[in-house]
Amino acid sequence: MLSITNLQVFYDHAVEAVRDVSLEVGAGRIVALLGSNGAGKSTVLKAISGVLYPEEGAITGGVIAYGGRPIGKLPPHEIVRLGLVQVPEGRRLFDTLTVEENLLMGGYARPAGESSAAMARIFGMFPAIEAHRHRVSGYLSGGQQQMVAIGRALMGEPKMLLLDEPSLGLAPQIITEIFQAIRRLRDERGLTVLLVEQNAQLALSVADYGYIMERGRIVMDDTPQKLLANDDVKEFYLGVQ
Ligand code: ATP
Repeated sequence: MLSITNLQVFYDHAVEAVRDVSLEVGAGRIVALLGSNGAGKSTVLKAISGVLYPEEGAITGGVIAYGGRPIGKLPPHEIVRLGLVQVPEGRRLFDTLTVEENLLMGGYARPAGESSAAMARIFGMFPAIEAHRHRVSGYLSGGQQQMVAIGRALMGEPKMLLLDEPSLGLAPQIITEIFQAIRRLRDERGLTVLLVEQNAQLALSVADYGYIMERGRIVMDDTPQKLLANDDVKEFYLGVQ
């Protein structure tokens, strides 16, 4: 469904943030992109969703194809229209808008009737935010905000989600809830997911396949079982001696 071949991204014409990255995400699969701080994971996601701006960063090589079609030169709104939607790191909600208004922003292209059905499904998935639907989202907990951010992305009925560090700064209980929801979206609706995480253990517990990035390159890729059993992965990413 998504295929990246030899992607190369530079920032400010000088910093090579991504070098020769190739990866595949099959339809209905959850693929984890792992690696430590600054490895280049967010840059890969930004390149896919078309939000690297020419004055900041640029794709200088490689091909990003979605459903067999090159999308590397498309503007972000056209990529979203193809059903490929990113949930950015740090949630990026409209803090002064209510939960409901934030969700509606994600479904702005839909007829009103469809939006309310989509919203009902999201509240079914994340009951914790339904009670707050009329509250301003800036007052919610981090976990609730992450649920709204995922819900907002789902409002447009995407085929594929790009999730950037959904667990960042959240309590374990909420993380479990969010990851169960991601799994259910795949199992029940066939949603395809590319999941960027620093928490390797967690990501590999839901993923079908994993890639590990270091200093802009993919250094390893394998099934979660094999990655979890690998000594280097254990030492550097799982904190096991
Ligand atoms: P994190 O988990 O901290 O977001 P990451 O793996 O997603 O890390 P990136 O954010 O993609 O890593 O950063 C990759 C490299 O590119 C880093 O060396 C970073 O300093 C650099 N970088 C990121 N954004 C910019 C920018 N706007 N301008 C210049 N360099 C940047």
